[in-house]
Amino acid sequence: MSSRTDIIIAGGGMAGASLALALAQAGKTVAVIEPNTLMDFDKQQSFDLRVSAISPASRNLLQNLGVWQDIVSMRFNSFSTMLVEDAAGSNVLDFSAAEIGETSLGYIIENRVISLCLRAAAKAHPQINWYENVVSGFSLEQEDAIVTLGEGKVLLAQLLVGADGANSFVRQHANVELDETDYQQQAIVALIGVHPESALQAWQRFEEQEVLAFLPLTADVSSIVWSTTEERATQLLESKEQAFLSELQRLTSDQFGQLTLRSERKTFPLYGRHAAHYVQPRLALVGDAAHSVHPLAGQGANLGFMDVAELVRVLLNSDRDLGSLHVLKKYQRKRLGENALMLRSLEAVQQLYASDNPLLTQVRSLGTRFLSGFKPLKALLIQHASGNLPDAPELLKPFR
Ligand SMILES: Cc1cc2nc3c(=O)[nH]c(=O)nc-3n(C[C@H](O)[C@H](O)[C@H](O)COP(=O)(O)OP(=O)(O)OC[C@H]3O[C@@H](n4cnc5c(N)ncnc54)[C@H](O)[C@@H]3O)c2cc1C
Repeated sequence: MSSRTDIIIAGGGMAGASLALALAQAGKTVAVIEPNTLMDFDKQQSFDLRVSAISPASRNLLQNLGVWQDIVSMRFNSFSTMLVEDAAGSNVLDFSAAEIGETSLGYIIENRVISLCLRAAAKAHPQINWYENVVSGFSLEQEDAIVTLGEGKVLLAQLLVGADGANSFVRQHANVELDETDYQQQAIVALIGVHPESALQAWQRFEEQEVLAFLPLTADVSSIVWSTTEERATQLLESKEQAFLSELQRLTSDQFGQLTLRSERKTFPLYGRHAAHYVQPRLALVGDAAHSVHPLAGQGANLGFMDVAELVRVLLNSDRDLGSLHVLKKYQRKRLGENALMLRSLEAVQQLYASDNPLLTQVRSLGTRFLSGFKPLKALLIQHASGNLPDAPELLKPFR
């Protein structure tokens, strides 16, 4: 037997679970299909390796959905400044909370903590049915999206949303063209112990071919994201702990004191991906299913929350069928261009520091390249960080 809801969401990650909650709170009926369960949270557990720098605009969304306090009571850290420097340490850009009229520039939070809080609220909502399952097929018909789950169960809805991540099954099954760039880099992530109180600001350094970020989780533990060439990433991953730490010590110019390794090291291959379109009749893509970006500015999850806020605005402001292309195109018009601009800006910076093009590496110093690429990106990041933009969707505006 098939059951009918207003919207089916494939994927209950940060994008999918927040979308479900926002739509249900506005009275829609929602089915979320998510195969993975998350380990329960316990304050005694060590920090997870996957963390995100969350912008004030994304915090607004989480506050508006009523889950921010749950996150705060689990585990989070805020930072008010961020320093970005080049190899010489001389071309320094700083970002501060004051520039966006906030007391925090951002928050470093484990992905699992955000997802656990969103999922708990979604699962408790009477308008949401949460299926521990996968979307294994679908067809987009005149009247309905007909979605098949793992064991053959069929669900019907006006709209199917693909929030199923960078390798989205929904995107592939709908034959949406993908613009993909292999950056031929890996991001190494690990937890690093630092000298107490030295880590209360976020810090990033651009070197030839690599970029290293320290994201403070507590006064004496930072999460690092170290994007580098595939070859060097393999070496660093296999190197002895002491050799790994010495390299970090060198790149940080000892400013975080004596570093210690507090976790295993993990790597993630880095790609830029952008779907050629986000919508079709009865289908929309959000979050990493629509775009994945280089982590050098910590924007991926934040862009996903911006998609969610916009899609919710468009769906709730329409009295038409939720799967109508006319309605969905308003979402695409707003988000595809903005995400493309962010992707291009991040790629411009990525290419400037990572390029081995002799014209770039010899004619201009890394410092010149760094500033020429990063200054325009800074303006864009500042604009995105604040939810106080004139045309921002309600969910990104400050919580009242
Ligand atoms: C090293 C690194 C550092 C990063 N740092 C930051 C940062 O500081 N700040 C930031 O904003 N972003 C950051 N990001 C990006 C961020 O992690 C992602 O953008 C974000 O997690 C994407 O969320 P999502 O919900 O769109 O997708 P996902 O988190 O991938 O969730 C997709 C969900 O879909 C489910 N799924 C998959 N297939 C199916 C199916 N067939 N049916 C049903 N469900 C399915 C999966 O189980 C999963 O739960 C970073 C990324 C990397 C690699």
